[in-house]
Amino acid sequence: MKFETARRIEKLPVYLFARLDKMIQEKRARGVDVINLGIGDPDLPTPDYIIDELCREARNPQNHRYSSYFGMPAFRQAVARWYNNRFGVELDGKSEVVMLIGSKEGIGHIAWCYINPGDIALVPDPCYPVYGNGVILAGGEPYWMPLKAENGFLPDLGAIPTDVAKKARMMFLCYPNNPTGAIATGEFFKEAIAFAREYEILICHDMAYCDIAYDGYRPPSFLQFPGAKEVGVEFGSASKPYNMTGWRIGWCAGNPDAVEALGRLKSNLDTGQFQAIQMAAVKALLADQSFTRKMCDIYKERRDICVDGLNAMGWNLEKPKAAFYVWAPVPAGYTSGSFAEMIFDKADVVVTPGAGYGPVEGDGYIRISLTVPTERLREAIERIKNNVGRVTF
Ligand SMILES: *Cc1c(COP(=O)(O)O)cnc(C)c1O
Repeated sequence: MKFETARRIEKLPVYLFARLDKMIQEKRARGVDVINLGIGDPDLPTPDYIIDELCREARNPQNHRYSSYFGMPAFRQAVARWYNNRFGVELDGKSEVVMLIGSKEGIGHIAWCYINPGDIALVPDPCYPVYGNGVILAGGEPYWMPLKAENGFLPDLGAIPTDVAKKARMMFLCYPNNPTGAIATGEFFKEAIAFAREYEILICHDMAYCDIAYDGYRPPSFLQFPGAKEVGVEFGSASKPYNMTGWRIGWCAGNPDAVEALGRLKSNLDTGQFQAIQMAAVKALLADQSFTRKMCDIYKERRDICVDGLNAMGWNLEKPKAAFYVWAPVPAGYTSGSFAEMIFDKADVVVTPGAGYGPVEGDGYIRISLTVPTERLREAIERIKNNVGRVTF
């Protein structure tokens, strides 16, 4: 039998990294030593104090049963306390925080709460692909906001046509940004809040990288700016600061109506994450944060190796202040796909073509992830230098 899939599935691309995985598997099967700078997934392990907490909690039979749809009170309160410690933001754990089975899950689902078929959502180009695809799945249409180097990879809200702004229901933002490594100023967040108020748009801010930063920079929370809670929510995650990508635990916090709507949707689709994982995340959020600072020192060294290496080949990159990516323009004569393919063929190094992150703006760039062991990264840069050589733009 060949079953016809629903139209909403037909519109979805094969997930970028699923496609890359196939190419890598084929090469590795031939015995080639491939270095994968594609996916942003921390290479170092979760720290022991968090694993120990998981093991302790896993032995408690009370944790073996179904857990609350919205997250354990202890988890939601821990998120509220973390916000208060880190940003001075006051949140009510009960009504303003909902647990997610990884933040991707909630980011992908929230469009179902606010998008009717044909509705518009403002989505950055380039961006984490889940924003646009979540909107498409819900029957909506992304309006792509270009993120350009000359504007610091911030969207130009003034350039959004008034009729589009009036029709838009949601806006996705992410700072520190994946894939560009850009950061947002407080001024930009204030401008976004004013825009959202004027046009009644729900802002969904993705703060996955709020604790991955360098050179003394401390990224803000969107929620720390006046009025943010009236117009928006923020998606957070234990994945990147504590090397917990496989554990699947995150949250959505902020506007209580949006938190309630997302919780209501989720309670009809899934059930809370394993409580032992929630308790381990509580430990992660409330313990001393020096582990994450040490991780940042490691990423910073890799960032310098990568940027200095590429600049020696002819690039002219600034060092990103946050997140663990280098977003590099492709040399003259290439698309992001053809350049990534050339690096893969000649150097056996995987980088992601920017086109995977947005329909227009991404195509001029490749993304390099710093989540491989430092010596492997050094080797990858060396291989690109030896096999690709000098580039011109
Ligand atoms: C890694 C990442 C996430 C996902 O995190 P999970 O909590 O593991 O689902 C969300 N947003 C961006 C931009 C990311 O890069």
